[in-house]
Amino acid sequence: MLRIAIQTKGRLNEESVELLKEAGITVNEDKRKFLAKSADFPIEVLFLRDDDIPQTVAMGAADIGIVGYNEVKERGFDVEILKKLSFGACRISLAVPKNVDYNSLSYFNGKRIATSYPNILKEFFKEKGINGEIHTIAGSVEIAPAAGLADAIFDIVSSGSTLVSNGLKEVEKVLYSEAVLIGNRGLSADKKALVEKLLFRFESVQMGRGKKYILMNLPDSAVDEAIGILPALRSPTIMPLAQKGWCSMHSVVNENELWDKIDKLKEIGAEGILILNVEKIVA
Ligand code: ATP
Ligand code: MG
Repeated sequence: MLRIAIQTKGRLNEESVELLKEAGITVNEDKRKFLAKSADFPIEVLFLRDDDIPQTVAMGAADIGIVGYNEVKERGFDVEILKKLSFGACRISLAVPKNVDYNSLSYFNGKRIATSYPNILKEFFKEKGINGEIHTIAGSVEIAPAAGLADAIFDIVSSGSTLVSNGLKEVEKVLYSEAVLIGNRGLSADKKALVEKLLFRFESVQMGRGKKYILMNLPDSAVDEAIGILPALRSPTIMPLAQKGWCSMHSVVNENELWDKIDKLKEIGAEGILILNVEKIVA
């Protein structure tokens, strides 16, 4: 039995639960319980605050966990990063009041900077030779300059709108983060095998994301050109149609290239183009 720690509520909860679900692991999400068993995979889910996930995994109270890379880095516990999960993207940046005439990092010498990520900032300042005064505060970091508590902040940014609405501007992007799957370093062989199984499922889910299944009718004479437009996992599937001189071609495309490919396929004579969703790709 494997134990995975995920965030109870907050920005990573929904997508963590969704990823598990798409990997065939459903948990009875009874919010009053902090531990839930899965009916379909030998795993139990431990719901925690994200702050506690790196330590819980490092200590082995959970075998693996889903948490923002920023938390892993800030807490400094020795855990293995098993996989980047492509959600929860953000960055941690230095920001100053918008009227400040900012030129370089040396601006921060002797300044008070409010943050919930003192360790990451300490390391960054040390590396750059900056002598700033780091003030650790737990929440609402972005209001610190207006409240006169700090000259600048070091905080999570995703769209930047929170900064703007607090009269701040982002001046240095220090750390890029996304949700990661972390693991305890001393897992037994049995648990490692379960983790491998899970990783394989996560990869299949990720590979299917943003992909569309496309099928169309094509004159035989256009097949070579169509293969050039639509490379597939190995190569596209081609089947003859009852009508002589025509075939049906099936392939998988990235959603962001879809319309461009469709235009090209129509130009070479493709007809009856169907686009379907891809749920998973088991490569
Ligand atoms: P908890 O109650 O579990 O301690 P929290 O308030 O510390 O939650 P959330 O705001 O839910 O944390 O954010 C969790 C993680 O989501 C962050 O550590 C970060 O990795 C990621 N994230 C992505 N975008 C953002 C954003 N715009 N603001 C904050 N966190 C973000
Ligand atoms: Mg937290």
